[in-house]
This record gives sequence, structure tokens and C-alpha cells, in this order.
Amino acid sequence: MAKIKQLPKRSEVPEALTWDLTKIFKTDADFEAEFKAVQARNAQITAVAGTLGQSAASLYTGITKILALFQDLEKVYVYASLKNDQDTQNAKYQGYQAQVTSLATAVSTNVAFLDPEILAIPEATLTQYLADPKLKLYHHFIASITANKAHVLDPKSEALIAAAGDAFNTASTTFSVLNNSDLKFPVVTDDQGQEVRLSNGVYGTLIESSNRAVRKEAFEKLYQVYGQFKNTLAATLAGEVKTHNYIAKVHHYDSARQRALANNHIPEVVYDTLVQEVNAHLDLLHRYVALRQRLLGLDTLHMYDLYTPLTGQAPLSYTFAQAKAEAKKALAVLGPDYLSHVTEIFDNRYIDVVENAGKRSGAYSGGSYDTPPYELLNWQDNVNNLYTLVHETGHSVHSWYTRHNQPYVYGDYPIFVAEIASTTNENILTEYLLKTQTDPIVRAYILNYYLDGFKGTIFRQTQFAEFEHFIHEADAKGQPLTAEFMSDYYGKLNARYYGPNVANDPEIVLEWSRIPHFYMNYYVYQYATGFGAASFLSDQITKNVPKALDKYLTYLKSGSSKYAIETMQAAGVDMTKADYLTDAFAIFETRLTELEKLLSK
Ligand SMILES: [Zn+2]
Repeated sequence: MAKIKQLPKRSEVPEALTWDLTKIFKTDADFEAEFKAVQARNAQITAVAGTLGQSAASLYTGITKILALFQDLEKVYVYASLKNDQDTQNAKYQGYQAQVTSLATAVSTNVAFLDPEILAIPEATLTQYLADPKLKLYHHFIASITANKAHVLDPKSEALIAAAGDAFNTASTTFSVLNNSDLKFPVVTDDQGQEVRLSNGVYGTLIESSNRAVRKEAFEKLYQVYGQFKNTLAATLAGEVKTHNYIAKVHHYDSARQRALANNHIPEVVYDTLVQEVNAHLDLLHRYVALRQRLLGLDTLHMYDLYTPLTGQAPLSYTFAQAKAEAKKALAVLGPDYLSHVTEIFDNRYIDVVENAGKRSGAYSGGSYDTPPYELLNWQDNVNNLYTLVHETGHSVHSWYTRHNQPYVYGDYPIFVAEIASTTNENILTEYLLKTQTDPIVRAYILNYYLDGFKGTIFRQTQFAEFEHFIHEADAKGQPLTAEFMSDYYGKLNARYYGPNVANDPEIVLEWSRIPHFYMNYYVYQYATGFGAASFLSDQITKNVPKALDKYLTYLKSGSSKYAIETMQAAGVDMTKADYLTDAFAIFETRLTELEKLLSK
């Protein structure tokens, strides 16, 4: 039997390895006082309702008051949620978390008038107001609200649609309930020969098993369950797609995709370029798959052979202190100013390092405009954790630059650009490790780590994006989205992506039925575009291309002061064009070639 690891209690963790939240509030009593103050201001904010359109001065005052409320709300919210995450079994902080969550909902409800009131100001009047120098600060903020004004219906119609919001969510709620609790999975055998109950989480581990029988059984049994419910799952997905198409249509959009992307001010050409470029480079995925087959020594490569690691654990181990030193060496290419913020984060207890009983799993970078960027880790001494550290530090330094260069109104950044900062750091680390590590086993591990990340992010997410767009278009044309129809297309799509070296497993045609992201309305493509942009940027920076670093730092400082596409254009990546992806594929090919050579020895 596996030994059960005894985790330390929160109180037993050495202080130096915990984050210092007194930088937010000195004491819990200070938090409680501020919480009450924010609560009181929330009650008063409704007095602003109905005033925004009255004059330039009242528009300025109203927006300023609302933003100030959000700014202070975020600070209390972050304190409570970080306290709760460090030990989720602590009743006091569970209570804080519940309090701030309901306060956040109350604030959102109370200021829901903001967008509709701005949209209701006649265009000529608004232009007049915006000439007032005081409002200059809010030009882009207001423009991002009014940008899609042509698609906003009269207040009565919008109210009718908003009131049906819960009903429109039925398809995704049903999927989520079915997928997370009602589906019952059978018992399978794990790596240690133990019987375990299959779940989506357990599947994620078993599909990576180096024991082929284990991953095959997990794969087949998981899809047996989804297969039993394929018609129900087709109905929930079809319902979701119909909702997207309906809401887009009544708002006079040409398509659901046009609406989804317009909400984030992303031109559709970004999406089409991604799909086109990935399709033009599928031969690289086929080559990678062939390498996999050779290395695993298999006559036939099945879909369940795609996730098992090609190389064993890297013979690289880092204590947290060593990892920090290594991360600083790798990130030095980002210049002394960037590095000074890394040092600040590493040396001032901004990071909660080790695992303890009740601590939230995984890793993240968090914080708010008025707090330092904090990082939650669950440290283990290996190279994957070194990658996690540079990834989260990428988010943290991005936050630091944004918050110190932008006013609160632009002091966050859109999702579309968020993962670019963290993934650029990961790619810089890869480049650094490949420059400094000579042991072929270590190099093979690092190359494979990169190639697997690329496969899972660029190829796989684009495959999803292609499927997502196809079913929306099919539904818009009146095609019933049955399980058979979707499976038929998915099977062909999958065969096209992975190529002739992978067997056409009958199970995989049902993959669409278990992907929660298909209920997120054109979300997945951003993973692929983000990884592509990060590959391009890190390549430019590590090659010392003139001005590349300056432009990159400009992106980190931009926050949401411009639309995401413009921010990235200023950083040197035009995501409406194919070049950044061509460059990313060239890097993939170089590293694939090196791994092919290394492993043929
Ligand atoms: Zn991230």
C-alpha cells in the first residue's frame, strides 16, 4: 500500500515559506473594519443610478465612485480568498470568503446600471461630454462599452433577454451536473495494481500511465460511459450552441463567433488565421506522433498512447532556493528592471511555498490593484515546479508592471493576453535550459516537455476551436446536432489532425461529449493564440532582436488601456497575420528534429 503522506498543519509551516498578508491588512480586525466600510459604500452607490447621463461632470463623478468601490472591494476580496486558500479547513476564513463573495454579488447587482446608462446617452451628447478634459482618462473605458452599441437592443428587449438568462443556462448546467456528479464510472486498475473508481480526474492520471494496459482500460471504460449518454450529451451541447446562435442573431450579429469575439474586441481573422496555419502545419504533428510510436515501440499507436511521457522523470532536482536562483538566471534575458521585480517577489514573502493540510491545490498568481502580486504554490523539488514558478512569476511581474503604470480603470489585463506573459517565461526557461544542460537525457526531457505543451495547446485547442465553429455554423444552417452527426465530423477531424500513424479508435469520436470548454462560447482558441504569441516573443527576446525587449515591456505595462490586439501589435506580434504562428512552428520543428536525432542514438 502506498504510504500516506502526512502534511504539516498550517501553523507548523515555517513563516519564511508563507506569504505575508499583513501587507494587505495588518490584522483581521483591520480587514473586518474595511469590509464594513465597503459594505456601507455599496449601499450608497445606488444614489448614482440615473445620474450618469445628466452632464459630463456627473458622468465623471459617477464612474469614479463606481470604480473606487470596485477597487476597495477587490482588496477585501483578495485578503479573504488568500486567507481561505492557505487553509480551506479554517472556519473563520471560510466565513470571510463567504462574506466577500456575497458582497461582490451585491456590488455587481447595485452597479448593473453602469453600461445601460452609458449606452443610453445619445451619441452627439456623449461626444460633447467627452470633450471635457476630466473625462479624457475614461475615453477608452467608455469606448469599450459603446463599441458594440449597434448590437444593443432597446432596454425592454434587453431586459426580456436578461430575465431568461437562467433558462438559457440550462444546457450548460445540465451538462455540468451530469459530468461532475451524476455520471457513474466503473472501477479500473491503476499503476500499483489497485482498484480505483474512474472519474475525470483519475482518468487524467491513468491516461499518462507507462503501463499500456492501465491507460487502455481507462480510455475504453471512460468512453463506454459517455457512449451510454451520447444522445443526452448531444442534446445539452446542441442546446448550448442554439443559445449562442439565438442570442447572436437577435443582437444582429452575423454569427455566434462574431458576437463572442466582438465582446472582447478580437477580429475574426485572428481565429481563421489560427485554424489555417495549424492545418498548414499538421505534418509536424504527424511527425511527432510517428516519433512517439517509434519510441514506445508500438506496431499501432492508439489515442490512449498519446499522453504517456516519452522520457522518464528528468534527473533534475531543485530545492525552492535553487529554483529561485535558476529562475533568475533564466529570466535575466528580460533585463535588470524585470529582474528587480522578480527579486522583489522572491525575497519579500509574496509566495506561499509549501503544501500544508487544507491548502488549495495547484498554483496561481493573485492579488489586486492595491496589493502585491501573491503566488500560491505547492512546492515539489522537480523541474516541473521550476516551470510553475517562472509561469506564475510571469503573471506576477505582468501584474506589477500593469498596476504601477496604469490607473485603476486600466489596471487589469484581458484574458486574451494574460497567458502570454506566463508562457513567454516558460519558453525563456526552455531556451535557457537547452543552452545550459548538455546531458542528452535531460535535453530529451526538456525538448519533450516543450513539444508536449505545444501539442496540447496549439494543436489540440485549435482542433477544438475548429469543431466548435463547425457545430455553430451547422446549427445556424438548420442541421440537427445529433450525436451521430457530431461524432462523424469529430472522427474525421481527429484523423486529419493526428494523421495516418494513429489508429481510428471508435471511442475517440465521442471526445466532443466530455469537453466542458465547449460550453464557454468560443473560449479555447485563446489558449492556442496565446501559446503562439509567447513562442514568437520569447524567440525574439532570447535572440536579442533590437527593440524586442522594450516592446515586450510596453505590453506588460499596458494593462487594459488598449484592446488586446493593439496591445500585442505594440509588443511586436500582429495576431491578425500568420507570421507569429509560422515562427512558432519553426521552433517546434527545430526542437522536434533535435529530439528525433537524440532519441535515434
Ligand atoms: Zn497562467
